[in-house]
Amino acid sequence: MTHAHIDHIGMAPWLVAAYDTTLHGTAMTADVSDIMWSDTYKVSDIEGYPLGWDKRDKDLALGAWCPHDLGDWFPIGSWNCRLHGAGHIPGAAMIEIDTPEARILWSGDMDTRDSPNAAGAIPVECDILCLEGTYGGRSHRPRDQEEARFVAKVLEVVSRGGIALVPAFASGRGQDILRILHKEAPRLDVHYDGMGTRITKEWLGNPELIRNPEEMKKAFRWSKRVSGKSDRKKALRANVIVTTSGMLDGGPALWYLNRLRHHRANAILLTGYQAEGSGGRKLMEEGRISIFGSLTTIPLEIEKFDLSNHGDHAALSAFARGCAPSDVVIFHATEEGRQALHDELAGETRVHLPTNNAPILVGG
Ligand SMILES: [Zn+2]
Ligand SMILES: [Zn+2]
Repeated sequence: MTHAHIDHIGMAPWLVAAYDTTLHGTAMTADVSDIMWSDTYKVSDIEGYPLGWDKRDKDLALGAWCPHDLGDWFPIGSWNCRLHGAGHIPGAAMIEIDTPEARILWSGDMDTRDSPNAAGAIPVECDILCLEGTYGGRSHRPRDQEEARFVAKVLEVVSRGGIALVPAFASGRGQDILRILHKEAPRLDVHYDGMGTRITKEWLGNPELIRNPEEMKKAFRWSKRVSGKSDRKKALRANVIVTTSGMLDGGPALWYLNRLRHHRANAILLTGYQAEGSGGRKLMEEGRISIFGSLTTIPLEIEKFDLSNHGDHAALSAFARGCAPSDVVIFHATEEGRQALHDELAGETRVHLPTNNAPILVGG
């Protein structure tokens, strides 16, 4: 298990229940998994979509964790494995697997740049590299410039008498936002709501996996954590509200949006990817969003910032070259994204673009 985002650990309870699987990962991933699985269970229950596992499977999975420190070798049958920091979010790991036939590196989600909370990933020499390709074919603006643009916009909104609503993912982006604001605009009144507050507490129990953990601790204490209804009303007088969900698909963000929409000085600052069909995407494209079942026009300033924690095309290519593999397998990518990485690397190494259920031959 590379890290605790739900697109990576979401089916683990099913796996454990069906195959009695042991879950290897960092202690941070194990600690955060409980919150992520419980939330997924709750949302699937409310929205009525089938999940493939139940509460009992989740409890089994919680008991199946076998945590490891970064860099420590551990055996699985005839394989030897160890975890390396992947950037992306604290506790995210790449998995190096030394088998009798080949050395494999599974990247998980990764970034070679330092972010406020995670140190960038470093290449690991291997024969077969399984590489994520989220940003294949695309490039990020320099991170410091994008952070500065974000802070400037927050200050502009506050100086005109508005509140900046910052929807942010619970596991990674929200904490990065707190770090940026605490460092660059410490006089602001910043309130922090949603599942991220609980995840941050788990993070702080594993400080060795956070970049400059003391700064995270300070930023968390500096923010006003919202833990009940009266806190939520107080937050309506804040300068900035950082909360879930990051794509405006639920969570306290919609509650706040429903109240903040009446005052034109307020603004919505999106800080992450807005998937097709998400509330945030609809808001960007149509200026409207469904709030508690009714389609509502939002006459506020909306701005999006690229604070991604994935390596871009240049970073992924440089990382792949640094690993010097004979084969690269691209996953976690769009068709355009993986084609771009294929075209970039195919002259130097065999590049595989797998499809579901079709075996691929590596090293042959
Ligand atoms: Zn991720
Ligand atoms: Zn992912």
